[in-house]
Amino acid sequence: MKIAIMSRNSKLYSTRRLVEAAKERSHEVRVVDPLRCYMNITSHRPSIHYRGETLDDFQAVIPRIGASITFYGCAVLRQFEMMGVYPLNESVAITRARDKLRSAQLLARKGIGLPVTGFAHSPDDINDLIDQVGGAPLVIKLLEGTQGIGVVLSETRQAAESVIQAFMGLKANIMVQEYIGEAKGADLRCLVIGDKVVAAMKRQAKEGEFRSNLHRGGTATLVRITPEERSTAVRAARVMGLNVCGVDLLRSNHGSVVMEVNSSPGLEGIENATGKDVASMIIQFIEKNAKPYKTKTRGKG
Ligand code: ADP
Repeated sequence: MKIAIMSRNSKLYSTRRLVEAAKERSHEVRVVDPLRCYMNITSHRPSIHYRGETLDDFQAVIPRIGASITFYGCAVLRQFEMMGVYPLNESVAITRARDKLRSAQLLARKGIGLPVTGFAHSPDDINDLIDQVGGAPLVIKLLEGTQGIGVVLSETRQAAESVIQAFMGLKANIMVQEYIGEAKGADLRCLVIGDKVVAAMKRQAKEGEFRSNLHRGGTATLVRITPEERSTAVRAARVMGLNVCGVDLLRSNHGSVVMEVNSSPGLEGIENATGKDVASMIIQFIEKNAKPYKTKTRGKG
């Protein structure tokens, strides 16, 4: 098969591993920088151009689109879809997953447990909003944040009010969330491929920190998740319409709740913590599922 990997940098661990795994399984693979793709969307034969050549004959595309280039990256992925190339994750699902509010609303609608979450536009509604999520301590999240940046724990109501006011003053979009203190700075990353959790790790925040992101100094270890957690992760992936994703769970007093669904999960942490060859599993999933013009994920909800 001829597989394209959309990635800005072929040296990144995940990109390298996917290239390796594809080659090992005798596929032709090419890393394509989405920001160097340009397209003619009005033509009868949609095409993608890349540094002066035309990209064609690909049977599958693996999008690894960073949060900062979601808009253009998804446009390029859509163009691949218009050309009938099978996307590992479809563009609409990635766009959906990148919007934290939209994701929370979708997951909640399908009955998936989430931390109690609120959002508001006007500073006049801050007090009510804080009450709705059960008062302080609470977590305030910038909707545009990633890797734990823009996630603030407010221990007191007063601190929460000031932080929310400050963010609103900067016209930043935020959401306010119940703080799951009983998780003790740990979360679970479940890597879903198709309808299975193929690997799971526990990430523990460093001493004195509540955010468990590896980029924030957290550490990862192999973990056994419960059948309920397994099924929650798989259902969350399906609701989002993602074939491959990382579902982050927090172990709360009212069961494990979904904190986030990541459409471009990094492979380094999970492969190292679990010793599993996730990259090969992704390539095998593509082998089983890729078909010309199969560009929509089915079976949502
Ligand atoms: P990002 O997308 O920037 O990584 P997250 O929403 O995943 O932001 O939050 C970063 C980290 O903060 C999480 O990995 C988790 O450890 C911690 N965290 C986030 N929300 C909560 C919450 N409601 N209760 C407790 N801890 C949380």
